[in-house]
Amino acid sequence: MESVTTAARMKEVSAGTRAAGRRLGLVPTMGALHEGHLSLVQKALAECGTVVLSIYVNPLQFGPGEDFERYPRDLGRDAALARGAGVAILFVPGEGEVHIAGHRTRVEVEGMQDALCGRSRPGHFRGVTTVVAKLLAIVRPHAAYFGEKDAQQFRIVRRMARDLHAEATLVACPTVREADGLALSSRNAYLTPEERRAAPVLHRALEEGAGLARSGVRDAGAILERVRRTLASEPLARVDYVEAVDDETLAPVAEVRGRVLLAAAAWFGRARLIDNVTVG
Ligand code: AMP
Repeated sequence: MESVTTAARMKEVSAGTRAAGRRLGLVPTMGALHEGHLSLVQKALAECGTVVLSIYVNPLQFGPGEDFERYPRDLGRDAALARGAGVAILFVPGEGEVHIAGHRTRVEVEGMQDALCGRSRPGHFRGVTTVVAKLLAIVRPHAAYFGEKDAQQFRIVRRMARDLHAEATLVACPTVREADGLALSSRNAYLTPEERRAAPVLHRALEEGAGLARSGVRDAGAILERVRRTLASEPLARVDYVEAVDDETLAPVAEVRGRVLLAAAAWFGRARLIDNVTVG
């Protein structure tokens, strides 16, 4: 595994890989790697052969008062996991390599960035699309891999890639969960043992809502009410939002017809966790 810390070297390595006729897959992460990240690497390896894993805690996507400073960072552990998973290139850009000195450019996906998590995290998705656009430009992968766990993020970056005629294909991978249903997340590290025991309610509540939809209930209000009621039964959960939106545009739906995303965010202590299920 080669470790790369500059955009210039990353471009060289990418060009060399492409010149050799090999396919390059990119897995962008913020580190604190877990099985969810590694499932993206597996998919990228299967489809591309040569995998770049990037680790970059992108300041642009954190709001004031959010967890940028205390976000878990352990490069030694991450590098060992990446190597073990078959990553060929570990891209850990240094200061000024992704967002160059004096940078002024932002990439925005209008509308979609203000829905769901965008309401409580203004500017977050603008930070995400800006960094992903830059990573795609630096790495020039044939395909880039994202998790369905961050469903809104995937739909927004896919829209961005289409709108900007990006070369890369963007691929979504299923959410990896603990045995009790909790989606793996770097932020689960913030949970106390008590909160950890409470946190699976997020997935359970969404699954109950999805179950209603699968049994033929069309009224989104009734489905959301069920999800909210289950979440309310857990005193350690503080709900941020529960919504039913169109799976492609993220516009709220009143009725479950076609593919619908049921998404929720809730605080458990200082951890803000998100999850989603799709129906239809
Ligand atoms: P992060 O490091 O949290 O920015 O996540 C990097 C990528 O891993 C994103 O595309 C996430 O959606 C994906 N990811 C995070 N958690 C999971 C999970 N539990 N299952 C699958 N993918 C995940």
